[in-house]
Amino acid sequence: MHYSEMSKQQLLAEYQSLEKNYQDILSQGLSLDLSRGKPGAEQLNMIDGLLTCLDREACFSDSGFDCRNYGMMEGVPEARKLFGDLLGIPAENIFVAGNSSLTLMYDTMARCMLYGTATEGSKPWCRMEKVKFLCPAPGYDRHFLISESMGIEMITVPMSETGPDMDMIEELVANDASIKGIWCNPKYSNPDGYIYSDETVERLASMKTAAPDFRIFWDNAYVVHALYGQHDDLADIFALCEKHGNPDRVFYFASTSKITYPGAGVAVMAMSKANLDHAKSILTVQTISYDKLNQLRHVRYFGTAQNVETIMQKQAAILRPRFAVVQETLERDLGDKGFARWTNPKGGYFVSLYVMPGTAKRTYALAKDAGVVLTKAGATYPYGIDPEDSNLRIAPTYPSMQDLTAAMNVLTVCARLAALEKLLAE
Ligand code: PMP
Repeated sequence: MHYSEMSKQQLLAEYQSLEKNYQDILSQGLSLDLSRGKPGAEQLNMIDGLLTCLDREACFSDSGFDCRNYGMMEGVPEARKLFGDLLGIPAENIFVAGNSSLTLMYDTMARCMLYGTATEGSKPWCRMEKVKFLCPAPGYDRHFLISESMGIEMITVPMSETGPDMDMIEELVANDASIKGIWCNPKYSNPDGYIYSDETVERLASMKTAAPDFRIFWDNAYVVHALYGQHDDLADIFALCEKHGNPDRVFYFASTSKITYPGAGVAVMAMSKANLDHAKSILTVQTISYDKLNQLRHVRYFGTAQNVETIMQKQAAILRPRFAVVQETLERDLGDKGFARWTNPKGGYFVSLYVMPGTAKRTYALAKDAGVVLTKAGATYPYGIDPEDSNLRIAPTYPSMQDLTAAMNVLTVCARLAALEKLLAE
């Protein structure tokens, strides 16, 4: 029965029974974690071949270049081709870097702030009185942290199943030259699992911006992370920006963090030639070259983009039951209560749960006291402030099935208790 249809007495009875459940849970002294978007050990063990695929002979690129040494700042050609094939972008536009796309994003933003961009006449953004960024939310907390730490003002843009609110974005960017860019996580978005529609991508690529050096930070972290075999298509922002005469608008990021080893994978960036030349001219100051042996390890292990897809299918088989537990528990415990909704992603690493507005922080606190750690309520919004206090991010990949099941059971009790506390106080 929907909580909104219950009498005060019924709500109180429900509250008392759940409170008893909660006390039981407290007495179990649980220690569970739903906050970490990390692969589980079974996924990591599946790619052991990556640890042994390199010997001395394999350290030479096809052209005979000795990758044990400095050089090839933009990456080993074979790695540029592999990632180009995977992303559907010409290899000449691919820059293969170190172990983290987050570092690439941070560095890219830092370059814009300190040096400006490749766009003619572009000044260092930090010289402007104000720099603003559009932040579709809920989104990835570390995007927001990069902006915040550099003093960039964040404008929250609501997300929907087709991507961010494009009417709002077009209006804002057309009239405000201090809006220099937007954060996008376009496929199986963190935390909702949404995919930007073709129309959204085309509008982003073609919209008129008051800032000539406007940049889209396109973080396609979950590009090949389909859960149910069939890939969900995402329009090609790279080609669309070119088509609409804005080839320099997009900085495209991806990594193998959730394909191979988080923290020991390979990060890539795709850029127009002008952006690539500009980045390289500044990067030369920062580094002589990245870890090409790790790039080669990935090339030797996978061989082709198709083989990457095959590994991802095997990983998906491990992840599907976990996502299923999340859906089943939410449906079973919250489905008929009418106060919560949640997403059912077809890929990626997260599920978004929207509890009764005004109760996400309380749900988080109740779960924490009961030994279940969630990503902090609010973390998915700029400045850590969820205007509705409703969104919670669930990361089902890392715990064992048993722990995940136990943690989900606790979470739904906490979400209901928090909702009932609010209703009974009204
Ligand atoms: N982008 C998104 C959307 C992510 O969810 C994550 C990891 N949780 C990252 C980037 C970080 O990737 P990397 O390990 O390559 O820095």
